[in-house]
Amino acid sequence: MKLDPVSLTRDLVAIKSVSRWSNARVSGLVEEWFREHGFETERLDYVDENGETKVSIVGRKGRGTGGLAFFSHTDTVPGQEEDWDPYDPVVGDGRISGRGSCDMKGPLAATMAAAAAVDPGELEQPVLVMATADEEVGGGGAKQVVRESRFFSETRPRYAVVAEPTELWPVYAHKGGVLVMATARGEAAHTSTDLGTSANFLIAPFLAEMAELAKDVKRNPRYRNADFDPPTNGFNMVFDDGGTRPNVSAARCTCQIGFRPMPGDESRELMEIVAGRARAHGLEVETTHKGPFYVSPDADLVQLASRASAGRKPKTVPYGTDSIWIKDQVDELVVLGPGNIAQAHTVGEWISIDQLKEAVQIYRRMIHEICGPATS
Ligand SMILES: [Zn+2]
Repeated sequence: MKLDPVSLTRDLVAIKSVSRWSNARVSGLVEEWFREHGFETERLDYVDENGETKVSIVGRKGRGTGGLAFFSHTDTVPGQEEDWDPYDPVVGDGRISGRGSCDMKGPLAATMAAAAAVDPGELEQPVLVMATADEEVGGGGAKQVVRESRFFSETRPRYAVVAEPTELWPVYAHKGGVLVMATARGEAAHTSTDLGTSANFLIAPFLAEMAELAKDVKRNPRYRNADFDPPTNGFNMVFDDGGTRPNVSAARCTCQIGFRPMPGDESRELMEIVAGRARAHGLEVETTHKGPFYVSPDADLVQLASRASAGRKPKTVPYGTDSIWIKDQVDELVVLGPGNIAQAHTVGEWISIDQLKEAVQIYRRMIHEICGPATS
């Protein structure tokens, strides 16, 4: 029963590991579990900007090069503790509930259980299982693993599976993320003196232009991709003047424009248009661009994932994963994991136990096909 992904998921969920704080405790559990189940382990860490230690664990079975690497993250979004008890996992009605059960401690448990069942002596190529930090806040753990892990560089895995919840559909493409932050600086003063300069008035013409641009972006084929549902990039705007009172001129106002680039679209051009308009209004501008993830739906690994998952057809999803940090470090990558993303980040988050158990079987088939004998 030790390979039961349900009890392992429960144990992982019971340890709070919100990205804001250290994930050292949950990583310690993963590391110990790996050792108990015949893995070699490697530990990587860094200290984040809040002074918190962030740990990623790599488990390895088998030696040599090539093979298959599974990637999951151990951090979660906040638990919303005022609305439920997110760290007291409940098993019942065919589900496990608790923060991170779906995104993505359940999927992590499935990869661990699948690889644990393998006798390393029977592997012709190695299998790696990664449990990384900080996926929800920039992917720091996955970036560190592909850059610094000794196991990863020794192994140079040919294939990677990112086990984010896809309801076990093989995913060959997802959208990326662009953020343009524009800042206006004014001068605060009480309006009775009329001596201030409102940052809000300085930024307002830019906001109006963005409202117009948003209409075009939705319709313009340059920013759409029919392989996705929805085919549009979710162009969005938020702004913040720090809650300035009506009788004060705003000292500072920021506007953030965000959207989700897709393969083959003109997202860089769109980012430059937004940044250029902001600069033309004298605003300070910062941009970040994370490209989309894409492999051919006909790639060997995607086809293998499709066969291993009872013929589920490869598809695209609109949400992002750590794939963008990993895809260039391996030959082929697919996103495939148990659970429905609609459950992620919710109060009452849960994962289906049937999905969890089926995931273990799918991953075992993939290990068997790629790395050698792994059937029981
Ligand atoms: Zn996730």
